[in-house]
Amino acid sequence: MNISIFGLGYVGCVSLGCLSKNGHTVIGVDVSQDKVDQINKGQATIVEKDIDEIIADQHKAGRISATTDFKAAIFQTEVSIVAVGTPSSAKGHLNLDYIFNVARNIGEVLKEKEAFHVVALRSTVLPGTCEKFAHIIEDASGKKSNVDFAVVDNPEFLREGTAVEDYYNPPLTLIGGESEKATSLISSLYEQLPAEVIVTDTKTAEIMKYVNNTFHALKISFANEVGNISSALGIDSHKVMEIFCKDKQLNISPYYFKPGFAYGGSCLPKDLKGLQTLAHDLYVKVPLIESIDQTNVIQIQRAVSLLSKFFGKRIAILGLSFKAGTDDLRNSPSVELVETLIGKGFDISIYDSNIQIAKLTGKNKDYIESRIPHLSKLLVDNLDYVIDKSDVLVVCNKEKEFIQKLSSIKGKTIVDLVRLPAHNEVKAENTYHGINW
Ligand code: NAD
Repeated sequence: MNISIFGLGYVGCVSLGCLSKNGHTVIGVDVSQDKVDQINKGQATIVEKDIDEIIADQHKAGRISATTDFKAAIFQTEVSIVAVGTPSSAKGHLNLDYIFNVARNIGEVLKEKEAFHVVALRSTVLPGTCEKFAHIIEDASGKKSNVDFAVVDNPEFLREGTAVEDYYNPPLTLIGGESEKATSLISSLYEQLPAEVIVTDTKTAEIMKYVNNTFHALKISFANEVGNISSALGIDSHKVMEIFCKDKQLNISPYYFKPGFAYGGSCLPKDLKGLQTLAHDLYVKVPLIESIDQTNVIQIQRAVSLLSKFFGKRIAILGLSFKAGTDDLRNSPSVELVETLIGKGFDISIYDSNIQIAKLTGKNKDYIESRIPHLSKLLVDNLDYVIDKSDVLVVCNKEKEFIQKLSSIKGKTIVDLVRLPAHNEVKAENTYHGINW
């Protein structure tokens, strides 16, 4: 199939490479000339396991390209996938400007295009958004939704750090739409994947990603609270959660039930806030959902108070992004931790192999320069140097590089926010503090 993908960020870049690897011809569209140039040079726009190789191979095979010219891309394709950002506004509502700009672009082209066109929203959007998207296209094109074109919701379930693996093994494939022709066409895109395909009405599909992400955040906050209580009693919270997950009556997966640091990233905080704001707008009371974020704030404060006793020492932050395997700094709790520590006068250096100053390109460079320029001065590109010059090492994510390095280190003070796999060995050779175990 010929497919255009709007947005070449974390979701768009992975979809571009993986759909192409499955035999489709894919054109990426982005407003960022930098990202378009990267794809046309055979380079990925993000840091993610395996994606560099996939993009390079598919570019060489001639199945992927990118452009800022949305008209050309829509004319050459029968399906458009939308993967532009849906960030939170200051009040927690979704900023749908990027999404609706794409709707206007598509409407403008469909005015002149005869063939049936399917649009799949892969971006996370609240119920009712696909309907509004379709109205914008109708207004701009004079065409009729579910007759001349169709808009379906097709939420993305990948996680940064394991995005390619998740693309090929999703927990489920969900398609919401009212046109059978469109939902079958989109289903066929994923027929090689092992996941169950669920076709539903549009609004049910739209709410699902919010429900899922809110539950992931709830699991993390629950595990962290259990961890904090267990730690006060000298109980190993990881053992507690391991036994908890074996209870057959609960029938839950152990994913996210790992006591440790606060959650973060571009999805969980934003989608939790999105569902909460929707509930407020509907006058529905949600005290349970509202409390999830309070626990998360407490977890960051807990890390700050754990570190407060080291005032005057040189602190190394190992891992600035919210998890291993990604360069995404949006809503990273480590960024918040560092900012609080700077405010308290700590002497800090930061190491993250995915965010090296010398390699900063595209989005990350823009993000750092515009949102956290004060932190760029603290970033150091050499792990050994950071370790040598610091008195206290704070492990903020599970990047393999630190895990390996710390398992061979001796005589340091280590504050472990993520529970290093070799924590017992690390404890034997160093002064070791875990956040909640
Ligand atoms: P991102 O910010 O990394 O990428 C968005 C891209 O869209 C940017 O490159 C931007 O330049 C581009 N863009 C903006 N306006 C455009 C336009 N009019 N035409 C073409 N391109 C345009 O975003 P992301 O992290 O990939 O997330 C995209 C969506 O997918 C969001 O709704 C997010 O909630 C959802 N999602 C993200 C993840 C994740 O792990 N990042 C997982 C599942 C779902």
